[in-house]
Amino acid sequence: MTIKPEKINETLLHYAPGSAERSAVQQKITELKAAEVIIPMIINGKEVFTDQHVRIAPPHEHAYTLGYFCEGKGVHVSNAISAALHAKHSWAVKSLKERAAVFLKAADLISTTYRAEINAATMLGQSKNVYQAEIDSACELIDFFRLNVAFAYEIETIQPCSHEGIINRMIYRPLEGFIFALTPFNFTAIAGNLPAAPALMGNTVVWKPAYTQIYSARIIMKVLIEAGLPNGVINLIYTDGPVTGDIIFQHRQFAGLHFTGSTAVFKQISTTIHNNIDLYQNFPRIVGETGGKDFVLAHASCDVQALSVALVRGAFEYQGQKCSAASRAYIPASIWPSVREHIVHMLDEIKMGTVEDFSNFINAVIDEKAFDKIVRYIDAAKKDPEASIIAGGKYDKSIGYFIEPTIIEASNPQYVTMREEIFGPVLTVYVYKDSEWNQVLGIVDTTTPYALTGSIFAADSAIIEEAKKALYYSAGNLYINDKPTGAVVNQQPFGGARLSGTNDKAGSVLNLLRWVSPLVVKENL
Ligand code: GLU
Repeated sequence: MTIKPEKINETLLHYAPGSAERSAVQQKITELKAAEVIIPMIINGKEVFTDQHVRIAPPHEHAYTLGYFCEGKGVHVSNAISAALHAKHSWAVKSLKERAAVFLKAADLISTTYRAEINAATMLGQSKNVYQAEIDSACELIDFFRLNVAFAYEIETIQPCSHEGIINRMIYRPLEGFIFALTPFNFTAIAGNLPAAPALMGNTVVWKPAYTQIYSARIIMKVLIEAGLPNGVINLIYTDGPVTGDIIFQHRQFAGLHFTGSTAVFKQISTTIHNNIDLYQNFPRIVGETGGKDFVLAHASCDVQALSVALVRGAFEYQGQKCSAASRAYIPASIWPSVREHIVHMLDEIKMGTVEDFSNFINAVIDEKAFDKIVRYIDAAKKDPEASIIAGGKYDKSIGYFIEPTIIEASNPQYVTMREEIFGPVLTVYVYKDSEWNQVLGIVDTTTPYALTGSIFAADSAIIEEAKKALYYSAGNLYINDKPTGAVVNQQPFGGARLSGTNDKAGSVLNLLRWVSPLVVKENL
C-alpha cells in the first residue's frame, strides 16, 4: 500500500459477457438475495440492533425482501454524538499518515475484495445497472478515499512565510466538536465521501444515510472497520429526520454539516442552524450539494450525433436520478428534426427492467413517492396544450417502480418541466428559432434558481466563448460538447452554485479545507 498516493483514478471494469467481473457480481447478487440480512446501526464501533425492523426491497421488485434495517430513536442519535466526541481527541492527534492509512486500505479493499459485493448491493438496493454501479460504488468511492489523501497532503504543504529567527506554521486542526453527514440515495460514493472526507482531516462524524441507501451504506462501514477505522470515528445511524435534527442541531458541539440532498431540506436545515446560532461553541460549517435543473444548450453548428447521445445518456442514465442529469434542452429549429429522429430511435432500442438482466439500460426509480411525483409531471404534460410527449410517457408500478424515459417538447420555455427539478427520467426540450440564439442564452441563465451543471454543444469556438460568458454563473460544472453528468474525482471537481449548493467541490482540496480550522503559530527562535 502506498502512503502518498499518485492521483490516478481507479480503472473502470466493463462487465463484458463471460468476464470474471460479471460472474463475480452475478454471484454476489444471488448471495445477497438469499441472505435476508438484519442491518444494525454502528455506534462506537458496535453493532446496535433494535426491534424496529424496516423492510428493504429492490425498487425494481418491491415485493421481494432483501432484508431489514434496525431503525433507531433519539437515544441512538445522542449515543452516536457521545461516541463521536469521545473518539475525537485520539483520532485528531494521529498523524495524517495514520489516518490516511485507513482510507487507502479501504480503497484497496473495495478495489480488490469488496467490489462485487458493494456493486451488487448498490444494484439491488438502489436499482442501478452494473455499469452505473461500477462508476459509482466502485470507481468514484475508491477515488474519493484514495485521492482525498493526496489532497490532504497538498494542504499540509500550504504554509506561511518564515524569516530568519521566526518560524510561522499553519497547523491544520480538525473542527472543534463533531460533524453530521446527511447522505443521499443516488450515489453510494457520495454517501461514503460525506463522512469520510471530514474524518480524514481528523474530525469525528455522525452519519445518517437515506433509508433507501442503507443496504449499500453498511458495506462502506464494514470496509472502513476492516481497514482499521477506530471506534467512534464514524457512527452510522438510521433515525427519523426530525428526531435526528432536533438533537444534532441543538448540540453545543455541532461543528459542521456535510450534506447532499434536496434544496428544500438544505434550506430548512440552514435556517434551523442559523436560528440556533447562540447555542453553538463555534460557527458551524455548512457544506451542501443540493438540487439541479441542468441544461443542454445546442447551437446550430453542433455535431448532431454527439448531441443526441449526450441527451439520452445525460437525461436517462440511472433513470435521471442524478442532480447533474440533463433535464432541459434548448435545440435550434434547424437541427431539431434530425436530433429528434436520433433520440427517438435510440430510445426505441433501450430496454427497461430489472438490474439482473445486464442488457437493461433503464431500471426502476427509487421508491413509490418518487414514482408518484414523476408520474404527476408526465400526466400533467399529457393534458397541457403547451406540452407534447414525443417519447415514452408510460409507467407501471405493479412489480417495480418503472417509468419509461420520457421526452416532452414544450412550446413555452417557462413550462413547468423546464423549470422544476423532477429527479426522474424526464427530459423537456424547447425548440428555439435559430435567429433567437441571444435570447436563449438569457432564458437558460434565468429560468431556474439552480446552477449545478450544464452543457453547451457548438462547433464554432466564438459561439462557445460567447455562451461561456453568458452562462458564467449558470453552473458549477460546465461541459462543452459533452453530457452534463459523470464528473470524475480530480478531473471535474463537483458542485454547484445558486440554489444548487455551497459549491465546495467534492473531490478536491477545496472540500477538505472546509473540515479544518487552522491554528497559526509564530515562534521566535
Ligand atoms: N457527481 C455526479 C455527476 O457528475 C452527480 C452527483 C449527484 O447527483 O449528486 O453526475
